[in-house]
Amino acid sequence: MIAALDIGGTKIAGALVDRDGVLVLRTRRTTPAQEPADAILGSVFEVLSALAASPLWGRVRAVGIGSAGPIDLAHGTVSPVNIPAWRDFPLIESVARHPALAHRQVMLAGDAVAMTAAEHRHGAARGHKNALCLVVSTGVGAGLVLNGSVHHGLTGNAGHLGHISVDFDGEPCPCGARGCLEAIASGTAITRHALALGWQTPLTPDAAGVAAAARAGDTAALAAFDRAARALAAGIAATAALIEIDIAVVGGGVAQAGEVFFEPLARHLRGYAAMPFLKGLRAVPAELGPDAGLVGAAVLAGAGVPPLATVLVDGNR
Ligand SMILES: [Zn+2]
Repeated sequence: MIAALDIGGTKIAGALVDRDGVLVLRTRRTTPAQEPADAILGSVFEVLSALAASPLWGRVRAVGIGSAGPIDLAHGTVSPVNIPAWRDFPLIESVARHPALAHRQVMLAGDAVAMTAAEHRHGAARGHKNALCLVVSTGVGAGLVLNGSVHHGLTGNAGHLGHISVDFDGEPCPCGARGCLEAIASGTAITRHALALGWQTPLTPDAAGVAAAARAGDTAALAAFDRAARALAAGIAATAALIEIDIAVVGGGVAQAGEVFFEPLARHLRGYAAMPFLKGLRAVPAELGPDAGLVGAAVLAGAGVPPLATVLVDGNR
């Protein structure tokens, strides 16, 4: 049994996960994202305490954390964009101080890398030795499977597809670059683009609303999804050309749009993935849904082998 945490800007989810990737117990707190660092850690401790109160806790052998990034695996720190008080926050060391964690190892990964581990072990990338997995929601996150293993990179941020440029003369991005994929393909960008093209809604505008309008044939909504899908296709095709993946697994809120998203994605992928060796490349929906971060954190902590050894700490240190 592994205890898993999924830490993001809106919620801190926790679960006990068995070896089949089943969440046998789950709990969550709202992230007090605008509060001081210690208050946010307090919410993480509440989640851990709720899990530790279970009679199953005695069977827990490690703790896996998937966190919003950027992260720094070498130092065990995180600096989530949506949690301002956590900058170079020593997450592994802090979590390891929870009394219930004595003698249990704590492992950290980026949330998109955790999702990748989940889809590779239990979901749509199962059986693929090389894969790209994406989370397209308010941002665009991604992770890589290379030669059968999840690839973390030196600092744990490998696969940062949301901040590669697919439009080299495009708009400046908050990351400092220009024309980033995330600025065109995220749910936020889809909503903004649909509104700019004249889409109207009586509700609070969001990507789910644009998707509903697109299904009803709204031309502005369809055009917004087409543009996002085209940018994603360019990014996926570039990744495939670099490392020869045959599958891109796409999850997150935007992927919930279904055909109005996956149809243009497949069409544009045929255009950008033009080299003969890329002909087999497919983009498919993720299978694990919003639990993928928890399942993946458990998969990675359960593996507990190098190259993660540098970030494993003894909870009783
Ligand atoms: Zn960027």
